[in-house]
Amino acid sequence: MIQQKPEKLDQTWFLDIDGTIFKNKSNLELDRIIKKDKYKSYLSEELLEGVKAWFQKLSPKDIVIFVTAREKRHSAHTEKALRKFGIKYKQIIYGINAGPRVLINDIKPADSNPMNRDIETAFSVNLKRDAGFNKVPVCFL
Ligand SMILES: [Mg+2]
Repeated sequence: MIQQKPEKLDQTWFLDIDGTIFKNKSNLELDRIIKKDKYKSYLSEELLEGVKAWFQKLSPKDIVIFVTAREKRHSAHTEKALRKFGIKYKQIIYGINAGPRVLINDIKPADSNPMNRDIETAFSVNLKRDAGFNKVPVCFL
């Protein structure tokens, strides 16, 4: 019998923005910066250490969705900054709570996936604020 090589399952990443990929800023700070620097405000964003390299290592089939407490009024500023740094993503969900983020998903049974084993599908990483991405893996399977 020919054993089929297990295929990797594509991942979806839900990433915070402030203190995680960009140096932390509050909505009030963003308001002040945008008022002062207008359309050039996005230039004030600082990409944290290891973030660019992490995105470069990510599988092109993986999906990134940003989830952020930044208000929707900061979307032009935020998206220009992401473009400036060449950060690729599928969607941004603005205006969520700044408190804990909880992901719930079912375990994929062995007979339903190419890896032939039960696969846990919910993971989390807590990062020290503004510490960067150097310790974040690009695969959880
Ligand atoms: Mg944050």
